[in-house]
Amino acid sequence: MLIAVRPATELPRLRADRLWDSIHESAAIGATADGGLCRLALTAEDGLARRRFMEWSEAAGCVATVDQIGNIFCRRIGCEPALPAVAIGSHLDTQISAGRYDGVLGVMAGLEIARALNDAGIGTRRSIDVVSWTNEEGARFPLPMMGSAVFAGQLGLEEALAATDADGTSVREALAEIGFVGEEPVGSRALDSYFELHIEQGPLLDAAGIDVGVVDGAVPSRAFSVKLRGETAHAGATPMELRRNALAAGGRVIAAVDAIGRGHGWDGRSTTTRMRVWPNLTGIVPSEVDLAVDMRHSSAPELGRMVTELHDACSEVTEETRVDIDIQPAYSFGGFSFDRACVALVDQAARELGASRRRMLSQAGHDAYNLALVSPTAMIFCPCRDGRTHNPSEEVDEARAWPSVETLMRAVVARADR
Ligand SMILES: [Zn+2]
Repeated sequence: MLIAVRPATELPRLRADRLWDSIHESAAIGATADGGLCRLALTAEDGLARRRFMEWSEAAGCVATVDQIGNIFCRRIGCEPALPAVAIGSHLDTQISAGRYDGVLGVMAGLEIARALNDAGIGTRRSIDVVSWTNEEGARFPLPMMGSAVFAGQLGLEEALAATDADGTSVREALAEIGFVGEEPVGSRALDSYFELHIEQGPLLDAAGIDVGVVDGAVPSRAFSVKLRGETAHAGATPMELRRNALAAGGRVIAAVDAIGRGHGWDGRSTTTRMRVWPNLTGIVPSEVDLAVDMRHSSAPELGRMVTELHDACSEVTEETRVDIDIQPAYSFGGFSFDRACVALVDQAARELGASRRRMLSQAGHDAYNLALVSPTAMIFCPCRDGRTHNPSEEVDEARAWPSVETLMRAVVARADR
């Protein structure tokens, strides 16, 4: 298909029906009985969704390329193909109990922009890459935002490929199984800029009736691996004062983590997200508990105080229970601002559209965080009902989300033609 016709002096007309149809068709892959979506990274369902996205992109005249970590780049070639491309992206994988818009909206909005440019016969000066990043959620394989982290040089390719799921399957094996071991070296393509549209995943835009979230930056987030070690004993015969019950101690730590977030204002967030217990059998006092703890605050010093409180709480629990506790950093992200020019461009696009908008920080992790390290980057949020997400009841009022899609298109076309 010949695309590059003339520079974009006009804007294409996006088709809402086509975008939402694509999202709903995608939601049939990995659909769950409760109306939600389970499409864990690199499963057969993820493979199907990836293939469908590539077919649609190729039908829209894009050239699809897969890199060695399975990131998919669908390029709509611009009038000056030697210039670095403007990228639009997000992810197609989901949490285990998810909705249909988280991630998918950003990828499909990029596809709709390519389709609409084709309809109008508009060629942009720079190419446009529509990107789907591998394993954004980190739900099956550890390390969220994996594909974009490798792309940005934050995570080694070999380390990422060697990561395993709960069954011991590695990313390398899973990529091969679904046929997504690409040849392009990861991070080898230079990008002019990166734009990501995502549902807010919080309640602010919905509650305030605002159309577009212009994301200034990312809330600092830190995750920890907390290991508790006591000793096994008989659940009946061992007197209480002789026990070193790791699960009882773990319960105290979990309660303390919840209290820490509550004690740091509206922006304080702290969660124990995962627990592993050993031996996890009836009749025996548990000796080992591993917890995953996630802490976030818009203020880095406040977050620092929250982390200190976690250490203090664990010391107290050790004193009370004689269970040893080791706290290790797992990962951290956020705590930066997006590119000023790209954010201003998004803000201007929303303003030209007449959309109501709010400057805000992102509370959740996104691939854009990694891209911001290697390319000028901006994010756009759209409202989602009551801020519910990572849940089958995740819902987007499509009319209310539409201004954010238009904003994305205007910002990307302007940037690609600059
Ligand atoms: Zn997401």
